Amino acid sequence: MPRSIVQQESFMKPSPRSLVRSCFLDGGYVFAGKAEDIAERYGFSEVARLASNENPSPPSDSAQAAAAEAILSCNRYPGITHEELIKKLQEIYGSYPVVAGAGMDGVIETVVRALITSGDSVVISSPTFSFYGLAVTAQGGKVGYVPRNASYEVDPKSFIAAARDAKLSFICSPNNPTGTVTPPEVIASILGNINGILFLDNAYVEFSDVDYLPLLDRYENLIIGRTMSKVYGLAGFRVGYAFVPEWFQPCYIRAETPFALNAVSEAAAVGALSDPAYADCYIAHVTRWRRRFCDEIPYPVAPSGANFVMIDLAPRTGREAMDALGKKGVLVRSCESFPGLGETFIRVSIGADWECERFLSAIVSL
Ligand SMILES: *Cc1c(COP(=O)(O)O)cnc(C)c1O
Repeated sequence: MPRSIVQQESFMKPSPRSLVRSCFLDGGYVFAGKAEDIAERYGFSEVARLASNENPSPPSDSAQAAAAEAILSCNRYPGITHEELIKKLQEIYGSYPVVAGAGMDGVIETVVRALITSGDSVVISSPTFSFYGLAVTAQGGKVGYVPRNASYEVDPKSFIAAARDAKLSFICSPNNPTGTVTPPEVIASILGNINGILFLDNAYVEFSDVDYLPLLDRYENLIIGRTMSKVYGLAGFRVGYAFVPEWFQPCYIRAETPFALNAVSEAAAVGALSDPAYADCYIAHVTRWRRRFCDEIPYPVAPSGANFVMIDLAPRTGREAMDALGKKGVLVRSCESFPGLGETFIRVSIGADWECERFLSAIVSL
């Protein structure tokens, strides 16, 4: 039964904060298109879903089993300190202080909430993931963007000049959507020359061969954000975490939502981390296909250290290319919503074999 329309006399709807209104006007977070729409419109029983950088396989057996078991205790609140997950992560990566939350997005939001108040400045290396700017704007912070160079690399000089006195800055490596890996030496030189905190977003680091963790031993102004959504195939569970400086950990904990991480998701994450073979197998698959994409796509492909590549389809716009590929049963992400990137790019995730094959035939005959 449809709900009857409420007409409450004399109720004046409170207006949202102007920051929220302006986020809506800018479009806010841009989500990938829907595979169901393409399937229905063009008559495909299955669409190649290459728009969200997801792992194409279901979570590992160990993640599924752990989640199923955790459901049985869901009448209880979860622990508030995410101990099990943190212990597991420290076993694998070393005894750095770790915080966890509902996706890395949740972690980013909490970091920003802990640090940023009205008027504080935050610097973002761009083009990049849009959520940093949205989270900062929602706290009233002022965002400054520092463009990457023509090869999408971070130019340390201009980044340091802009970020020196910012309270917080963001670099994504490997970068979404370009795939670019910033060498640890460049990150080190930035860390040594700024007065604020650098949030290094490592959502895709497992697909590259760089290791930024040793920087945590040398710098007290580095946060490294990670996610279980990509390499471990747990996007729907919403688990992210970050390695943080020791002094910052209590600040984070005070700013975080109580019970930010639900018990089933935490259990799934611990289960997933107990099966490194699952991740290794996916990483090998990505490495193989990334090479084939670079060799066979007849357009410029930016060098990528992630599970996706960015392609320049000029003179087509990203949206035109996305629509043309949609007609061939392939869903990709147009990059037009990434400010500072121009209009002619798409981002394509490395999916299952059949999805990658369908995409390659489609792009060759575009
Ligand atoms: C996917 C992604 C995240 C966030 O992942 P969660 O699903 O929220 O853990 C963060 N940063 C970048 C660059 C991403 O691509």
